[in-house]
Amino acid sequence: MSASPRTAVVTGASSGIGAVYADRLAARGYDLLLVARRADRLNALAAKLAAAHGVKVQVLAADLAKESDLADVEAVLRRDASVQLLVNNAGIARLRPFAQSSAEDAVSQIALNITALTRLTQAVLPGFVARDAGAVINVASVLAVHALPISSVYSATKAFVLQFSRGLQQELAATNVRVQSVMPAATATEIWSEETSGVPLSALQKETVMSAEDLVDAALAGFDKGEPVTWPSVGDAGLWDTFDAARGALFAATQTGTPAARYRQA
Ligand code: NAP
Repeated sequence: MSASPRTAVVTGASSGIGAVYADRLAARGYDLLLVARRADRLNALAAKLAAAHGVKVQVLAADLAKESDLADVEAVLRRDASVQLLVNNAGIARLRPFAQSSAEDAVSQIALNITALTRLTQAVLPGFVARDAGAVINVASVLAVHALPISSVYSATKAFVLQFSRGLQQELAATNVRVQSVMPAATATEIWSEETSGVPLSALQKETVMSAEDLVDAALAGFDKGEPVTWPSVGDAGLWDTFDAARGALFAATQTGTPAARYRQA
């Protein structure tokens, strides 16, 4: 534990991946600020973690898709200089074909997965930069680089999280402020139900599903290694290097200022 109090903020801490982050960060000696809508769940977790790890745990019940609640959380993050880690974990999925979903399905995913994540990052980063310390962990998804016929909006929100994180990493390269993008594949949480994503856990192939505990422990191992992008379920780390190198080569190849020969009129 460090000598001065340090606080980790975990959004979406009332279940699944966020609740495990809260536990693991408390075990590492962080005081916690837990954010989600279900206050009863947050309070129960806070009491459990404070007793188990002897840390201070505060709860902030907030709907991060709601402007007034988001503004309240932003204000707390801006003024609390003890915040050294923000885990942007809260996220929802509405997995169905776009033409069969509502505008609300799309807008609610964008509001939480993109807008809230961006604004909470904006709330902490100037302080982190001024103090030259701090870290943001952004929970993206393997669907950031892969779209399914039911995931057009969800995949797009997670692609935002990955690219947002990649850009910030470059902006912060000369500082001690870190941003990690975590790329979970299917993980056994409440996101997998008819009521939430629309897809029950039983519809997934069992062998492709990781436990939330394994996911967070692997993600934190990647964080400890200083990885900018962590793929907890991918055995061959070289695959990401190859993918990223191909992306860089494709981008470099766009810088020609002329139409490619195959698009020129004869
Ligand atoms: P989960 O168990 O459903 O947890 C989602 C969390 O987000 C809950 O704590 C929920 O709390 C909170 N949340 C939802 N809407 C909110 C709102 N409007 N305002 C504030 N908090 C809200 O699902 P999970 O799998 O742990 O998801 C965590 C993150 O992992 C998400 O970003 C998800 O996209 C990502 N992910 C999950 C998987 C997977 O297979 N599970 C794979 C890739 C990425 P309340 O309902 O109490 O508000």
